[in-house]
Amino acid sequence: MADNYFWLWHNDQDAVVVDPGEAKPVLEALQRLGLQLRHIVVTHHHQDHVGGIESLVHETQALVHGPEHPGVPKPLDRLQGGDELEVLGQALQVLAVPGHTKTHLAYFAPSSPDHAKPILFCGDTLFSGGCGRLFEGSPQEMLTSLKTLAQLPKNTQVCCAHEYTLSNLKFARHVEPGNTDTQRYQAHCEDLRSKGIPTLPSSLGLELEINPFLRTQAPELVTSVEAYHQGLEASASMASLSEVEVFAALREWKNTF
Ligand code: ZN
Ligand code: FE
Repeated sequence: MADNYFWLWHNDQDAVVVDPGEAKPVLEALQRLGLQLRHIVVTHHHQDHVGGIESLVHETQALVHGPEHPGVPKPLDRLQGGDELEVLGQALQVLAVPGHTKTHLAYFAPSSPDHAKPILFCGDTLFSGGCGRLFEGSPQEMLTSLKTLAQLPKNTQVCCAHEYTLSNLKFARHVEPGNTDTQRYQAHCEDLRSKGIPTLPSSLGLELEINPFLRTQAPELVTSVEAYHQGLEASASMASLSEVEVFAALREWKNTF
């Protein structure tokens, strides 16, 4: 899995891992850092997020927390939006963010004495410069989910599950060429990747400036999407699109870009 991130959160003794798609790299990190795995937190049931759970539980007896779904191994501490989970003495708020899958969850840790900036684990809902594909949910569900995330504090560290940033930014530049923040961020990320450094975590404040899927009201983007949509339907009149229609067309456009 060349572009998956599994986030390991620890206090130098005990650890939590988010979305372990494989066990081996997690076990190696635990051993290297001298950590005991206590909790496994799952955003959604896709194999690249749950594939390592069974052997990690076998090796460490860690507790598994996540959405109820046949694809998430049992025993499971079943969670849903509005729940709160405590791990390593830290509260994690559970947010329902359907769209990529119906039962997708995100986890938000408000700032605390142990970590000054709030932290968001958002799985395949929000990526830096992009968002997840709509495998199970509707555009309206995903748009609502992204708006839920967009309301979190701007200094929130956004821990996404994939390194898709550069290809997302290519599309972001295409749909909003006048956005100089995106241009600067793209140069920065190209530099990071050329040195083999992850582009993540991002911050929510940055995503609001550069991520087209959080910018479905930005005038230049709306104009681009309307022109794209117009081109698809030869008979369509140049009527303006609603925000959810802009989002749906933008997502469709990205799928074929
Ligand atoms: Zn997924
Ligand atoms: Fe994934």
